[in-house]
Amino acid sequence: MFEKKTERAAFIDQRLAELYPETPVPLDHKDAYTLLVAVLLSAQCTDKRVNLTTPALFALADNPAAMAHVPVEQIQAIIRPCGLSPQKARAISQLSQILMAKHGGAVPKTFEELEELPGVGHKTASVVMAQAFGVPAFPVDTHIHRLAQRWGLTAGKNVEQTEADLKRLFPREHWNALHLRIIFYGREHCTARGCDGTVCEICRTVYPARKRAVRVKK
Ligand code: SF4
Repeated sequence: MFEKKTERAAFIDQRLAELYPETPVPLDHKDAYTLLVAVLLSAQCTDKRVNLTTPALFALADNPAAMAHVPVEQIQAIIRPCGLSPQKARAISQLSQILMAKHGGAVPKTFEELEELPGVGHKTASVVMAQAFGVPAFPVDTHIHRLAQRWGLTAGKNVEQTEADLKRLFPREHWNALHLRIIFYGREHCTARGCDGTVCEICRTVYPARKRAVRVKK
């Protein structure tokens, strides 16, 4: 029934839309800048912890002009719970200065300009483009990379390949919501222990004959 990748993709797209009709952005923010900072903080940290941390940071400075004047040590002290605080604090400080110097204090709306900012890779830029500017993007983190392999949507050579495969399989206008829906589904079902590719509804539906755990590439 689901021999083809495109059939699996269509089922998954539709089922996830039924399961998660609403797609609220998980990271609290009030504009593109606060989202950019929150996404940067979320590297190797949970969204929940980031949301507990950003109120104190944004009370101090919630725009690049103000943040550019906050000493890096002060930023670091506040964001310590998010981990990697020396690198993240430096990146937040430097990118705020660059936004002031090069972009008139605004977050740029292109992948190229975003990815030039310190601490901002393709995944972070994709989240900002999608969630702040509504531009279709498909940010692939390790969780989506793993799920896409278990659902047979990619061979999962690397995150770049997974992103390209997912973009080919799903309609462009679905990307932004679908990306969030996959995250919601993964959070609900794919716990570190349970996530072996044989348990949940989608895996059982698209691979009914699967008996053994799926090994995925990192
Ligand atoms: S069966 Fe496992 S791998 Fe597949 S989606 Fe469910 S929890 Fe994740």
